Amino acid sequence: MKRVTSKENTICLHEYMPRSELVVRRESVEKPRFPVIDFHTHLGSLTDGEESEVKQRITGHIEELRAVGVVHVVNQELQCGKKLFDVLEITAPYSDFLTSFGAVDISQLDEPSFPSMVRESLEHGVKLGMRGIKVWKNVSLGMKDKSGRYIPIDDPRLKPIWENAARLGLPVLAHIADPVAFFRPVDRFNERFEELQRHPDWSFCSPELFEFEELMEQQERLLEGNPDTTFIIAHMGSYAENLGFVGKCLDKYPNMYVDIGARLAELGRQPYTARKFFEVYQDRILFATDCFPGGLDHLHYYEFLETRNEYFDYSPSEIPGQGRWKIYGIGLDDEILEKVYNLNAKRLLER
Ligand SMILES: [Zn+2]
Repeated sequence: MKRVTSKENTICLHEYMPRSELVVRRESVEKPRFPVIDFHTHLGSLTDGEESEVKQRITGHIEELRAVGVVHVVNQELQCGKKLFDVLEITAPYSDFLTSFGAVDISQLDEPSFPSMVRESLEHGVKLGMRGIKVWKNVSLGMKDKSGRYIPIDDPRLKPIWENAARLGLPVLAHIADPVAFFRPVDRFNERFEELQRHPDWSFCSPELFEFEELMEQQERLLEGNPDTTFIIAHMGSYAENLGFVGKCLDKYPNMYVDIGARLAELGRQPYTARKFFEVYQDRILFATDCFPGGLDHLHYYEFLETRNEYFDYSPSEIPGQGRWKIYGIGLDDEILEKVYNLNAKRLLER
């Protein structure tokens, strides 16, 4: 066997692709143990274009989802106004498989008509079958108000949204922050360095923007100040890296739920902590993947939740997108698994 000298040994980080030599038993998972409701998906792009094509695309995607054991999805529609209403009308025939949440037009925040616009738009959405509200991180991390300031998620001007949500029985799915590493300097200490190299625009490390910790304070004030509104704080309560924090919030705010979408890479590298978390908060966790058409990834989620497999990939890509680590399964008991897969979601959707 050829031994490499230290000089040849120097490779760039992106070239490094170690292959695990571990020999461990790996249980295969082809189907989930219970029917799955995926609470966080994005199917809106399927609704653009010619009617016959749209029909074909939606039914094709539903078939793909059914093939991996999904029985219902919640489309977290980012559109608002006329575009949202179009999506609701186009997807209405598939309501046994597909429920939509929809967004509110926050660009009108400073208009005196904002509260009545919110009320009318939500009421109209409900008439067309909308079952919840989606709030995206563009509110806390992208948009500015008339005075040029970023808008904290607990801004009193947003209150009409939460009040109407409570009145109409609409849960709110809120994506407020992003992984903590996106708020840290993009340097050799950043655990998501490669990802941020590929997507420099995903970095929120800027003195102009809210810091991650500020966002968490705003998030807590949102939950505390609107106890009659049910919030699903997406991506593991915004802080999958710190389940202790998320647990404390769930203890304090009975109106809070979390979804697990796109956080396998975080949960799967803390299997003991994650398992304990799922045991304690089994009634407040929703299965979700944050998937887009063409990017189904459900089997990794099932493997994580159902097995005690060790050191496996959390995504299909050769270089895992979120960081070069592997994950471990938490092997949940059936009773908890069924709640996470569908019972908790049913409870929220059937209100
Ligand atoms: Zn999403």
